[in-house]
Amino acid sequence: MFDWSLGLIRRGQNTTMSTSSPTILITGASGMLGRALHRLLIQETSQTYNVIGIGFSRLTVNHYHEHFGGASKTVELLQLNLLDVDATTEFIERHRPDIIVHCAAQRFPDAFESNIEESIQLNVDSTRHLAKLCRESTSPSRPDYKPLLIYISTSYVFDGGIESKVYPPYMPESKANPINSYGKSKYDGERAIREVMNDATNNVSEGRGIIVRVPLLYGEDCVKLDEAPALEMLKVLLPSSSTTGTKKKIDDWALRFPTSCEDVARVLKLMIDHAFVDNQFAGTYHVASPYGITKFGLLQLQSRLLNISKDEVDDRAEGADDPKAANPSAAPRPQCTQLNCDDTWAALGKTFEFAPLEEAMGRATQGFPKRFLDGT
Ligand code: NAP
Repeated sequence: MFDWSLGLIRRGQNTTMSTSSPTILITGASGMLGRALHRLLIQETSQTYNVIGIGFSRLTVNHYHEHFGGASKTVELLQLNLLDVDATTEFIERHRPDIIVHCAAQRFPDAFESNIEESIQLNVDSTRHLAKLCRESTSPSRPDYKPLLIYISTSYVFDGGIESKVYPPYMPESKANPINSYGKSKYDGERAIREVMNDATNNVSEGRGIIVRVPLLYGEDCVKLDEAPALEMLKVLLPSSSTTGTKKKIDDWALRFPTSCEDVARVLKLMIDHAFVDNQFAGTYHVASPYGITKFGLLQLQSRLLNISKDEVDDRAEGADDPKAANPSAAPRPQCTQLNCDDTWAALGKTFEFAPLEEAMGRATQGFPKRFLDGT
């Protein structure tokens, strides 16, 4: 059972022990990262935390895909449209979370550009609103406990040095300079949290926020290749893919650090546990695998893992050194935004070992192509 006496020393005073479990609320629990975190918290902390997952259009998620070697389990999520300010206020007041992990976002740069207004509302305005709700509320059983907002941001807040001349690897305090609308909105979300949490006016004391920047992510439970940009290149190797001689150009220019959502979820769990032990725990942290690779390099790795011959890959795809050649209409992207995670491990008091890329990518692609052809 969670020891509350560890976590509730605030302003030098011990507070009353609570018998109720802290509530952890996850927005975007139907999404790639939210699913992994929701599953992990339910699996490992159901005795400690009351875990609530929120979805929007997907309210039923398959938590234990056979891919993980266990029986599959369907989990229901609660529905909330974060664009509805009043509904969000009412939801938070009803559930009184101790920690909100805000994973919901429009995160596809190209989809973002095609619906900018709504995307900004979700990525920035809903973040600001959740920050205000956290700052202005308290835990029902622990009146001096200020709910914590953990906001998931992106390495795309950095420009790779193209304009800023600030080059990777980036520290949390490195100068941000996002170069596409998605990156700007995520950075505006960060700024909204800093503004709200540092504002101690109207007799409301400062709030607590944690910003977690992550690089390109992939789920190990995806059944749609489109869901993860680190898997979507595999579409060229689907049996249905055209073999008319036109090779698909795949970006071989930008260096990514693809990170499994399972690993990010594990680090988020460490952060959640730590937040109850250290009530000063706040700020900006980086969480990223150290294994760098281009998208074309990923396709080559994935095909090796799946025993697809090099000749077949070469027949269907080729690497593109020019990012515009791979996708002429794509939003601009930086070449490398590697994140330095030292501050994260220092704050948590331990270094997290990320799964080797081959290992986690092996799990993520297991069952190809059937799993992805059958995916619903
Ligand atoms: P995702 O798979 O695209 O999931 C997005 C989530 O947002 C879904 O659960 C979706 O719910 C929810 N959502 C969309 N509109 C909503 C609304 N109006 N109200 C409430 N919920 C809404 O995202 P992800 O890949 O898990 O990303 C998680 C976080 O990491 C995001 O903040 C993202 O910016 C950040 N990030 C992701 C990557 C990456 O490579 N994926 C890289 C860097 C940073 P429904 O599906 O139920 O509609």
